[in-house]
Formats: sequence, structure tokens, C-alpha cells
Amino acid sequence: MSSDDVTAGRVPVVVETPQHARLADVLDYLSERALAPGTLVRVPLGRREVAGIVWQGVAKASTDVPLRPIAQYLDCVPALPNQWLALLEFAAGYYQRGLGELSLAVLPAELRKLDASQLAQRLKRLHKQLRTTVEPTTAPEEPPLNEEQSAALAAITQASADARPAAPMLLHGVTGSGKTEVYLRATKQSLAQSRQVLMLVPEINLTPQLLGRVTARFPAQRVVAMHSALTPAQRLQTWLLAHLGLADIVLGTRLAVFASMPRLGLIVVDEEHDASYKQQEGARYSARDLAVYRAHLERVPVLLGSATPSLETWQHVLSGRYRRLALDRRIGGAALPRVRVFDMSTLPRPEGPPPALAPALLDALRDRLSRGEQSLVFLNRRGYAPVLHCAACGWKSACAHCSAWRVFHKHDRTLRCHHCGFTERVPRACPECGNLDIQPVGRGTERLEEQLGELLPGARMARFDADATRGKGNLERTLAAVHAGEVDVLVGTQMVTKGHDFRRITLVAAVNPDAALFASDFRAPERQFALLMQAAGRAGRDADATTRSEMWIQTWHPQHALFAALRDHDYARFAASQLEDRRSAGLPPFAHLALLRAEARDAAVATAFLRAAAETAAAMDDSRDVMIYPPVPPSMSRVANIERMQMLVESASRSRLQRFLAAWLPRLHEQRAAHKGLARWAVDIDPQAI
Ligand code: ADP
Ligand code: ZN
Ligand code: ZN
Repeated sequence: MSSDDVTAGRVPVVVETPQHARLADVLDYLSERALAPGTLVRVPLGRREVAGIVWQGVAKASTDVPLRPIAQYLDCVPALPNQWLALLEFAAGYYQRGLGELSLAVLPAELRKLDASQLAQRLKRLHKQLRTTVEPTTAPEEPPLNEEQSAALAAITQASADARPAAPMLLHGVTGSGKTEVYLRATKQSLAQSRQVLMLVPEINLTPQLLGRVTARFPAQRVVAMHSALTPAQRLQTWLLAHLGLADIVLGTRLAVFASMPRLGLIVVDEEHDASYKQQEGARYSARDLAVYRAHLERVPVLLGSATPSLETWQHVLSGRYRRLALDRRIGGAALPRVRVFDMSTLPRPEGPPPALAPALLDALRDRLSRGEQSLVFLNRRGYAPVLHCAACGWKSACAHCSAWRVFHKHDRTLRCHHCGFTERVPRACPECGNLDIQPVGRGTERLEEQLGELLPGARMARFDADATRGKGNLERTLAAVHAGEVDVLVGTQMVTKGHDFRRITLVAAVNPDAALFASDFRAPERQFALLMQAAGRAGRDADATTRSEMWIQTWHPQHALFAALRDHDYARFAASQLEDRRSAGLPPFAHLALLRAEARDAAVATAFLRAAAETAAAMDDSRDVMIYPPVPPSMSRVANIERMQMLVESASRSRLQRFLAAWLPRLHEQRAAHKGLARWAVDIDPQAI
């Protein structure tokens, strides 16, 4: 027994208790042996037996209730490492969730279900499988690093050698500047020291290439992928491989930030600005932020990669907290595409809606066709048309359950709500007045593909969005066709801008990027800039095509600062102007936010809960440090017949906001029962959208 062990007798165990039960989630049990903190156990809870984790330093006040003994010890696997426990304590505290709820939720579901002998069996099977693995192939040759890459790698090497925790590093470079190559070299160094590497990516399914590249580069190492599409059995297996130290590289989406890795030596967060690092339900954690914290805890370097860093990260660079490693040039001297901002208001205006594509853009597409080059046309709206409309009576295809229109999907003749899923056949006639002539209004990718097919006869079209890639193998098939040169024009939503290394695309066009300029969400311009930069990065990746590469922006607002900065590929200028706006408006990263959300069938119930919460706050001392705004409906105020309301809490100090929330939220739990009809409430720390 090590000196850190919890002594036998009364042992604190963290379990998952439903939040509404208002049960503490650290319970005392009786143990007949001394246990390491982090040991997995099964304990009786009420009439059930549930998974639990032995914890240290969180013992709760003793009660007179006789202690129940621990039912099973799952000690055929090592205890969870101390740093893992520390990470979970931090995350539960920071995101205001129960320690038990969060800690058990981030473990594989199978692990929570299996008893000791079942788990031992799984382990045996796992080890047997490992013995039969194939001979390693030889690794592809690695290119000699250029000067910027070498400098970046040297800085990372230095950071790993330092005894003190190093500053987080931002690897700042456009697509094609060689960031991934730097990740691979840093990974290699870490592996050489027998350390494990955690590589976080926004999406794995969309970017199978990165996984391919990592496995090819390290054929003698075990690489596991952790993401939401794994079966429960696969999830347990990858988790165990990481936890047992048998996986050398864990490549995963946001949940992988919680992977237990006893030999962790490096964390990489690719596309660190990507919104999908923020969990959008339950514990709304940011995997990027937790990765930075975890690196600090474990004293390992963390590398955040992006062409368009989040403004939070960029502000840390400007203030000197993070270190910027710059890759300013594309590999092989490839130039960034020339950005052409096309002013839609210069088009002659015939009757009716403006054309999907300006004639000049069509000509540019025809040029590509005649040269056998590929084009990518980008529109961030799927379906055929966002709404159907009856000109006779004004009927529109509203969703009966949400504050949204139902989208017209032509291929299966449905009207579909993208928020609640409510789907119906397209009516033959207007449901209100019987008019037979109901028309699609506006344009989604499905319609754009159809229109482009008509405008460019003979062009081979493909579509890449959530509808076209649904179903097994469709996504891979489309990608393969593009890579094989079997597609001339690819139409897609933002899905298409993520990470794909399309070599033969010389034209990227954003046909309707204006909505983000006037969105109520303060992060909309930041997201749009990142998206367009990333889309531009899909063009001209081959040096010999780069001089002809273009990015077209069709806009009614050509003077907008966002497009001006984009034209010059000038991230720093864009960031400076955004930060200026944020500073004067008191928004992040200069203020810290939490959003209290409430949902009910009746909006008045949700509002009353938020008002009462504000009154409770007003009576608290800590509320001096925060500003609480009145309740408002979010932009999607009704989803599936549930009304939503939200209330913003703002503070100049992160720690004071934390202190206030920690005092305030327990009181809201107590008040909940008084609000009959409240469906649920939750707090979102550092919300992505307000
Ligand atoms: P990013 O991740 O920034 O998009 P990559 O690392 O994928 O960039 O590099 C883009 C391309 O250039 C890849 O095909 C990669 O193999 C290649 N590459 C990267 N670094 C070098 C180098 N130093 N010399 C030659 N080719 C390189
Ligand atoms: Zn009508
Ligand atoms: Zn709906």
C-alpha cells in the first residue's frame, strides 16, 4: 500500500446520482482494504448497485447511518491517475456540475456496467487480440522541416524539457503551411521518451486523412481513435488501451480530453478555434480549455493549432500568456488564393430574385471546367429551399412545434424541421387556401447543385452536406470521387471546409456569406472569418496550380471589414478590429459570461424561474461582482413545443464569477420545486452563443 492510499474503513466514493435527486454524489462506504484513490468499485445505492470511483480529500460529513460495504473492487485495471482525478475536480467545479455525474459520464458506458469478473474477461480478450496484431510496415519518409517548422519544433522541444509548466503554444499557420507535420514531429519526440500523445480534432469522420497520416507515420506505435461513432464495446476497448498505457497516440474528439493516459507527454489541439470543442448539452465543457488546464496539471506542453485562432487564444498571445509559433508561408511556396470580393449590387436587376451566381463567377467556373480543374461552391444552408411560400395567401412552411421554418427537401419531397425533426410530405396545394402554386423561397445546397447542373451542362456535380453524406459509405464515396478527379464542381455546406486536402481545387466560391455580418450573436463574424479562411485554404494546395487559384465572395456588402481583411489574408488585422469591438462592448475575452437557461411549455414559467433566480442573486453579497441581465428568449425560442428563455450573467473577473455561481446555483436547485411546469434549467459557462 502506498502512502497515498485511502485507509481501510470509511472510504469516500464518488457515484452518479441524478441531479434532481439532490443527493450528494460523494458517499461513504466501508472498505475492508486500503485503496488507491481512483480505484474503480461497485457500490450499493438504494436498491441498485452502481459504479463508483474511490476519491480522496472529498470525505463528506459523517452520518449516523450505518455504512454499507463496497460490493466489488474493479482492481484488475489500475486506479485512475491522480492527475485525472484533479482534472475532473477542476472541470466539475468550473462548469458547475456534480463531481460524480461528470466523472462517471466521461467513462465508457460499458465500464460503468461491467462487474469485476466481466471486466477481467474483457481484459483477457483485449490482451489476446493484441498478441495477434500484424507486423509493422515501414514508415513513409518524413520531409526535412523548413525554417519556420524547425523553429516551432525547437520551441516545443524546449517546452517539454522545462521542469516548470511551459506556456501554452499557438501554432499559427494557414492551411498547407505544415502544421500537421509539426504535430507529427513533436509526437515523434514524445514517443521517443515513451510518453503518450493526445491529439484532439474537431471531427474525425470528416477528416479520415489525419488518422491515416498519423497511423502511416508511426506504424510501430498503437494509435487509437476516440469519437462518438464507436460502438460501446469499441469505446471500452480504446479507453482501456489508453488507460493501460498500451495506446501510444490517442486521436479523438472533445470527449477524448478526459481519456485516462498514465504516460501523457504532449497534447495537441488541432483547429483550436472550432466551435465543436464546446459540448452543447449536459456539462457544457470546452475541451480546448480543459486541454490547456490538463497540460498545466500534468506539466506537459500543449500545442494549439489554427489558421484563425479563437479571439480568446489570440488575446492570450497578445498579453504574453501564450507563445505564438508562426508558420507564415505555405509549403512549397504555394500562394494563398487570390480573394475576389464580388459586389452583387453591380448586377443588373431584372424582376424577381437575384441569380444564384453572378455571370462573372459562372465564367470563372467554366474556365476551371475547360482546364479540367475542380471548383468548390460553398453555401451554409442545406436542403432545397429554407421555406415554401404561397403567394396567394401568404402561408409559409412553419414548423408547428418550433419557432422555425421547415426546410423543403426536394429529393424525397419532404418538409423537414432541422430543429425538432418534424417531417411531412410536401403538400400538393397550400394547406390554407388550396392554391396549387406554392413556391420554394431562397436556396439551399440541394437547389444550388440543381441550378449549377443546368448552368454548367456536362459538369460532373457532387454535393457534400449532412443530407448527401448520410448513410454508410456515402461520405467516403464522395471524398474518394473528388480525390480521383471524378467530380468537377463540389457543392457543400461548412462540412466541406474542414480539413480535407483537396489537391485539384483552384476555385472556391462562397455564394451567400452575408447573414453572419448582421447576426445577433457576437461571435458570428469571428466564425464567418474562420470559415471563409478555411474554405479559401481548400484552393490551390498544389504549387503549380496556385497562381490560378481564386476565392470568390459574393456579397451585398463588399466594404465590410471582414471581407477587407480576408482579401489580404490578414488574420491579425481582423482580430484587432474584433477585439476592439469586444473591449468596448464588454464582451469576452474582456468579460466572462455564464448563461442561465430555463425551459418550459409555457414561457412565463421559464421567465418566472429566471426572475426569481435574479432576485435570489440580488440578496447575495457575491452578486456585487456580477451583472445580471433581464431574461430574454434566445434566437430559437421554441423547439419541439418547449419554450426557452435565458439570462446572461457577466463579470469582469473569472474567479469572482466562479465564486458567485458556486454560491448561487445550489439555491436555484432548492427553488426549483416551487416552479411547477419548469421542464429544466441549466447553466452554460463561457457560452458559445448568446
Ligand atoms: P497543414 O496542417 O498546415 O495544413 P500539412 O502539415 O498538412 O499542413 O502540410 C501540407 C502538405 O505539405 C502536406 O502534404 C505535407 O506532407 C507537406 N509538407 C509539410 N511539411 C513539409 C516540408 N517541410 N517539406 C515538404 N513537404 C512538407
Ligand atoms: Zn395559400
Ligand atoms: Zn420543429
